[in-house]
Amino acid sequence: MTDTTCTQCGYEHVVIHRKYNGQRLCSNCFKESIEKKVLRTVKKQKLINKGDKVLVGLSGGKDSVALLNILNILKEKHMIDLVAVTIDEGIAGYREEGVRIAKDVAQKLGVEHHIVSFKDTFDFTLDKIMMAESKEEHPQHACTYCGVFRRHVFNQTAREYNATKIATGHNLDDETQSILMNYLEGNINNMVRIGYITEARDERFTPKIKPLREIPEKEIGLYVLECGYEVHFDGCPYAHESFRMEVGDFIRQATLKHPTIMYSTLNGFEKIKPVLKKDYMKKQTGLPNGTCSRCGEPSSDELCKSCKFLDKIHEKIRRVDEDDN
Ligand code: SF4
Ligand code: ZN
Repeated sequence: MTDTTCTQCGYEHVVIHRKYNGQRLCSNCFKESIEKKVLRTVKKQKLINKGDKVLVGLSGGKDSVALLNILNILKEKHMIDLVAVTIDEGIAGYREEGVRIAKDVAQKLGVEHHIVSFKDTFDFTLDKIMMAESKEEHPQHACTYCGVFRRHVFNQTAREYNATKIATGHNLDDETQSILMNYLEGNINNMVRIGYITEARDERFTPKIKPLREIPEKEIGLYVLECGYEVHFDGCPYAHESFRMEVGDFIRQATLKHPTIMYSTLNGFEKIKPVLKKDYMKKQTGLPNGTCSRCGEPSSDELCKSCKFLDKIHEKIRRVDEDDN
């Protein structure tokens, strides 16, 4: 066997050399290995049960496209039902491309697909919010609003379409970044919530699952390309030089010399998590036990976080409009 033959089937054309386990794989064996690995995670971690309706957050980026394509294997076996939801935050020049790819992929796979916009749901695009925010002395970052509103939309649509799980495309790189970031910042309460499944803290929330958690980001990109899908590589214009990015760069650098480092970070964390959980899970406060008086979402306060944000945004936009007149 030479360096250019597949270690699985002996075929000549190799598309990947996995330094962390020595495998060299041709396109077919590579795709098969990714699908098997994801479905093994789903089974081993009991992420999905027969009869579940899984809502996939389909941004049109490589992770969500790979996720939908793989979970569709279970749908084709009539084990689960799928619904894909694309959130259009209203980011001009960026989101349109993702929405177009998402539509295309869902149509090709024959998966029920819905596009939900911030504009229709909250009355503002993210661009409009950020325009008003830019006039503030200490502007909030776009991701703060985006994250809260996105969670709101996913929870609402999951109930609307009777989904029993929400699947997201978090990959191995995302997860090791989260573990390390939270550890370095001393956020142990956040750290113990990182996992294959985020149990709903309130029965009105749908559990969130991460089937791609053991797949490196690079391999997801290659998988999507090898499956013949278009890949939306552009980054969000609001993404910024964050601590997550610094940690990501550090892990990528370390991986060059130590190819197994992401797996050992994840596996080590899974080992210490039960011990951490004992002490930290019970100390968590602020769990929702009531209902937002405005929108009816679970909330520990009178108003949920989205409604509080919306009040602030209304006020900021009103000030900008007044200044303009
Ligand atoms: Fe939203 Fe931030 Fe992601 Fe852009 S980078 S889509 S603003 S969370
Ligand atoms: Zn609310």
